[in-house]
Amino acid sequence: MEYFSLNNKAHTSTFENAVLKGLAPDKGLYFPKDIKKLPDSFFEEIKSRSKTEIAFEVIKNFIGNEIPEAELKKIIETTLDFDFPLVKLNKNISILELFHGPTLAFKDVGAKFMAGSLGYFIKKGNLGKVTVLVATSGDTGGAVANGFLGVEGIDVVILYPKGKVSEIQEKQLTTLGQNITALEVVGTFDDCQDMVKQAFLDKDIHQKMQLTSANSINVARWLPQMFYYFFAYQQLVEEKKKLVFSVPSGNFGNICAGLLAKKMGLPISHFVASSNVNDVVGRYLKTEKYEPKPSVQTISNAMDVGNPSNFIRIQELFQNQFGDLKEHLSSYSFDDEATKDALKEVYENTGYVMDPHGAVGFLGLGTFLKENPEYHGTFLETAHPVKFLETVENVIGTKLEIPGSIRSILQKEKQSIDIGNYSDLKDFLMQ
Ligand SMILES: *Cc1c(COP(=O)(O)O)cnc(C)c1O
Repeated sequence: MEYFSLNNKAHTSTFENAVLKGLAPDKGLYFPKDIKKLPDSFFEEIKSRSKTEIAFEVIKNFIGNEIPEAELKKIIETTLDFDFPLVKLNKNISILELFHGPTLAFKDVGAKFMAGSLGYFIKKGNLGKVTVLVATSGDTGGAVANGFLGVEGIDVVILYPKGKVSEIQEKQLTTLGQNITALEVVGTFDDCQDMVKQAFLDKDIHQKMQLTSANSINVARWLPQMFYYFFAYQQLVEEKKKLVFSVPSGNFGNICAGLLAKKMGLPISHFVASSNVNDVVGRYLKTEKYEPKPSVQTISNAMDVGNPSNFIRIQELFQNQFGDLKEHLSSYSFDDEATKDALKEVYENTGYVMDPHGAVGFLGLGTFLKENPEYHGTFLETAHPVKFLETVENVIGTKLEIPGSIRSILQKEKQSIDIGNYSDLKDFLMQ
């Protein structure tokens, strides 16, 4: 399968090279050259298909013959070894729960699929060691640590901001050992991100090692997120109303995968990008002006993004036609007060406990449905509420039950290396 760089369509790549390198040499994001529609029979039979069968049909054209069928099916099976239940909140609203994976947030699917693909290419090509370098504001670190744990040929180095991730998030990325190292940075997430970018530009480092990244700019992390929307549709086939999905959005990788699924023929009529006060896309849809801003800290911290990297892929999906984009995508933004109120209200009315990201998704959906009652709405619950324990317990005024896997991780000892600046990082990588 051919990919091209969104900075220059003449710069093309295989899937393998796109996975190994992350970004194109011209710093553009890779985008698939050919998006094939799935046949009608696929949708007619979707109810009787297994998760692995659905996922294989959905992703195979994006990989072509670069991973043999049996191998690809194995990667998919390992990736999808948990459930994606659709829960009815009421007659008009469903919740797609994406937090049943090992680190309790939706990023597990992308991380595991990327680990499987990268592991395959390293083994096949005898590439030696590859180092995955990644900065995290919370959920990416745990998902990547878990997904890449023990994968041969890969060392993982995670940078996270000291004191700015939740206790559970920190334990998830600092307690695994083996091929995973956590670097604790005295600074903010932006500082971590800057150091990672600097390392990617550093010639000394490139001479010494093969480096790749594992955030949603990597096609192997971005594309498998399409699966969620097909799994949701499988559970919604009998719904007679038009379908709208509300996606809590930060870097816009997840919602972009949903829009790609739609392009492949999945009958979802509309998407809502729900955001916290970091609402650069919402403002763009109002003004047609795209103006990135420094991110503002909120209680839905995985969406504190001031310049969403995947938005350019969404524009490409709509051939940069603003009118077309606006017809298929709405965006609404909510502050922390509104988010907390929604969390509390849904808990009191139904007993369902949302996490702060899901609560933003719920709010965005509600706003859309008020004006468009002819739709059935689904919002994505992107993380388990215990990942944001303090916030959620304070808002709903009751204790949450902590899953066994989390209780055992909380008892493990944190192992991390303190670093203060880029030269510390470089020394670590060069040693
Ligand atoms: C990463 C994350 C998001 C945002 O997803 P994007 O693909 O970056 O838009 C939303 N919710 C949670 C819980 C996350 O971890």
